Formats: sequence, C-alpha cells, structure tokens
Amino acid sequence: MLDHEDSLNSIAGMPEIIPYLKREEIDSLTSNIANRISSDYKGQDLIIIGVLTGAFIFLADLIRKITIPVKIDFIGASSYGDATQSSGKIQITKELSTDVEDIDVLLVEDIVDTGLTIGFLIDYVKSFRPKTVKVCTLLDKKERRLTDVKIEYSCRVVEDRFIIGYGLDHAGEYRQLPDIFYIKTEG
Ligand code: 5GP
Repeated sequence: MLDHEDSLNSIAGMPEIIPYLKREEIDSLTSNIANRISSDYKGQDLIIIGVLTGAFIFLADLIRKITIPVKIDFIGASSYGDATQSSGKIQITKELSTDVEDIDVLLVEDIVDTGLTIGFLIDYVKSFRPKTVKVCTLLDKKERRLTDVKIEYSCRVVEDRFIIGYGLDHAGEYRQLPDIFYIKTEG
C-alpha cells in the first residue's frame, strides 16, 4: 500500500512534495515546548487560543502533553489577497468564544512568517484586557519577519520554503499529512 507521500506525489499535476520534518521529530519538539509551558504557567489561569485553521493539529497534540489545567478556544484570522503571501491586511474570521479578561493567554500558531498575522492577533486579543498575551508557534520563518513580534515559544526555526502537512495547507489541501513537507519550486 502507498503511504501518504507516495499517493499524493503519484497524482498527475500535483506539486512535488519533499519530506522536511518527521512525526517523531515534531513529537519531540512539541513535548519540549509543552514541558516549558506547563512549568512557566504553573498555578496560573491559562487559556490557549489556537489560530485557525492551520494550528488545529499542533494544538491538539500540544495540549495533550501539557500537565497543568488549561482552557481552550480558537480564533480565526485570514489575510486577504494572495494565497501564499501575507498581504498584511488581516480580518477576523472567527471571534473568541471566551472572556479572557485578566487571564493569561497563549496564542498558538502553526507558522509565523512575516509576523503580520500574529502581530495583529496579539493587539486584537490585548483589546480584551487579558493579564498577559504570549505566542507559541510550531514553525518560525524568522528570516522573513517584517514586524517585530516576540515569540516566547518557538519549536523550530525553518527556512524560507512553502511548508505543508500537519495542519498546514496548500490551497486547502494536505492538512492531513502526519509529517511535514515542503513544496518543491522550479529552479
Ligand atoms: P504571516 O502573517 O506571519 O506572514 O503569515 C502567517 C500565516 O501565513 C500562517 O498562519 C499560515 O497560514 C500562512 N503561511 C505562512 N507561511 C506558510 C507556509 O510555508 N506554509 C503554509 N501552508 N502556510 C504558511
């Protein structure tokens, strides 16, 4: 039987995908960050807010490794314009369902690229007067940053490649891949 990668690459016209991070490595990165979060927020009121849609798989794995009480919510954000580049114009596509006033908030992202999305979300969440707002991301394209955002918990710095799998999509697809890949570009 073909695995995910073989079956996806065998479909004519699909972009070629190259393995980048295996699930074992993702699991170990997630465990390390979950340990730090569990220790840093011990005894505090913590709400973890996943940024839809890409963070849903990372968040699901992360919270199951966190050993302190935690509440969960999601926020939706999308930048309008180009599908693969952040335009910087962000809109909220799903509002918070929880009152975060005077609570420690940890925003969880799949990937921070220019930083414009997470920068917008930090300011947006701050308008609800939480006690603190910090950021955890699975992947961090540090070299691409256009704005000065502080990322307290960054699992892995990655190169400037278009990454898919483990929640990250290309044109809405590939999110279900258990490992992380990048899309091969010509040249
Ligand atoms: P930023 O505003 O930091 O430039 O972009 C953040 C968002 O852009 C991420 O939450 C993600 O949705 C998308 N993004 C940035 N780089 C990648 C990438 O390499 N792969 C995928 N699938 N999405 C990306």
